[in-house]
Amino acid sequence: MKIIDGKACAQQIKDKISKEVEMIKAIGFRVPKLAIILVGDRPDSLSYVRSKEKTCKSLGMDCDTYLLPSDTLEKELLDLIDRLNNDRSVDAILIQLPLPDHFDSARILDFIDYRKDADGLHLMNVGLLHLGEPYVMPCTPNGIMSLLETNGIEVAGKHAVVIGRSQLVGEPTAQLLIRQNATVTLCHSHTRNLPEITRIADIVITAAGHPGLLKPEDFKEGAVLIDVAINRTDNGLVGDVYSPTTLPALEKRLSAATPVPGGVGPMTIAMLMHNVLDMYKMKLNK
Ligand code: NAD
Repeated sequence: MKIIDGKACAQQIKDKISKEVEMIKAIGFRVPKLAIILVGDRPDSLSYVRSKEKTCKSLGMDCDTYLLPSDTLEKELLDLIDRLNNDRSVDAILIQLPLPDHFDSARILDFIDYRKDADGLHLMNVGLLHLGEPYVMPCTPNGIMSLLETNGIEVAGKHAVVIGRSQLVGEPTAQLLIRQNATVTLCHSHTRNLPEITRIADIVITAAGHPGLLKPEDFKEGAVLIDVAINRTDNGLVGDVYSPTTLPALEKRLSAATPVPGGVGPMTIAMLMHNVLDMYKMKLNK
């Protein structure tokens, strides 16, 4: 079984971005800038934000982070977004999710100028993706497709099973697979007899957030597993399927799999950085 190295793949993407930013600097243009907004004090969210900020700066791009208290009013958040929407030096805006409960996340995300929507979650960008004309690609699904392509895993004509139908991962991933001519089955928490479905899949992409969701024998011989889930357990981070315990049996069963950690995770940040640079370039072209 081939272990699909997300870290190495992400590094290649980041190296390319860093070179492009160096060229932008060399010709005397301003560098791309990402604005990140975090509302509240969830330690996991803060660590994700810090990691995005660090990566952005390490690639030579600017990053402004806005840390707002959890009792921030909707109007205060919308005023900040409005300011960033109208700030010509800001190319991309990211709101770290989840927002505290008193916010209507969809309403907040839709307030971002869709041309600055770093995560591709604005209603307009979701619609454009479904029409097959994306303005910006959602980071995790784009990272998954890039991993498949870089590792020579053909998608066209294959039966791909996606587990999870969130707006962040499952739904857009299914959409991208359809566009690449896969035959897609989208499973979710109401799906009956999940292993019967995965056993006839060429590619299984799992994003449910349930360790032990499937066993190695629930896969067809030679299938590909993309394990998106990040589950914190007493034995460290594991996927929905991938873990140090299941690895020996998976190795006998599958042709390729993404590890957890080190698979899809690093690709998500790399694709975010790619979006920031892309949005900057689209603005310049205009
Ligand atoms: P979510 O909770 O919004 O969605 C989970 C989906 O899984 C739902 O559609 C639900 O119907 C489905 N589901 C739950 N239990 C199921 C079951 N037993 N059988 C079949 N389907 C089931 O979560 P999300 O934001 O889509 O994230 C999913 C997982 O992916 C989480 O573990 C999250 O940490 C991880 N994630 C990883 C990355 C990354 O970069 N690697 C990015 C985003 C999310």
